[in-house]
Amino acid sequence: MRILVVEDEPAMAESLRIGLQAEGFAVDVAADGEEGLWYAAEVEYDAIVLDLMLPKVNGFVVCRTLREREDWTPILMLTAKDGHLDEAEGLDTGADDYLTKPFAFVVLLARLRSLLRRPGRARPTTLQAGDLTLDPATHTVRRGETEVDLTPREFAILEFLLSRAGTACSKPEILENVWDFDFDGGPNIVEVYVGSLRKKIDAPFDRQSIVTVRGAGYLLEQHGG
Ligand code: CA
Repeated sequence: MRILVVEDEPAMAESLRIGLQAEGFAVDVAADGEEGLWYAAEVEYDAIVLDLMLPKVNGFVVCRTLREREDWTPILMLTAKDGHLDEAEGLDTGADDYLTKPFAFVVLLARLRSLLRRPGRARPTTLQAGDLTLDPATHTVRRGETEVDLTPREFAILEFLLSRAGTACSKPEILENVWDFDFDGGPNIVEVYVGSLRKKIDAPFDRQSIVTVRGAGYLLEQHGG
């Protein structure tokens, strides 16, 4: 899943980037509202973490502009301390949730995951294909009863393939969903990660759940291989 962080304080932006990447999200950071609007127009994000006080275009205006564009990406608005009026106004402009600074990263993560799970986004809490299950909330993957240990990147790829189980996903599609703008390598990196995923979720269990579809990419079998 890919998240846009719009935050002008470099230290805060960087810690959000590092924290979210460690959780397996692809993260782009915009340093002001104008840049945020540009990113949001270029990429389909799963959620946006939007600071309220931003240079050029503030968070309220960013939020309202996105909704006017009929962009319904879930928005978690970061407001300043004692910002009761801000909260009301933030919700009025179409933010889905708000969080008052300072906050603990685990709280932000929980709120973000809850936004990503909201009905209408058709994102089940647990993704499943046969006896292969992935729980985004607890960050666990199981093959039957056995827990499988994945790196954040492997986890993100598996999450993407599972969300589209039974459908071929192209390498550029996987790349776009799992990697961010900072990545400047080619789509072949996807092969490397799919290879290591197969070694963890398929080979030890004598399965072949991730199928290579010639010319189309990869497909995760709906019945789990
Ligand atoms: Ca700010």
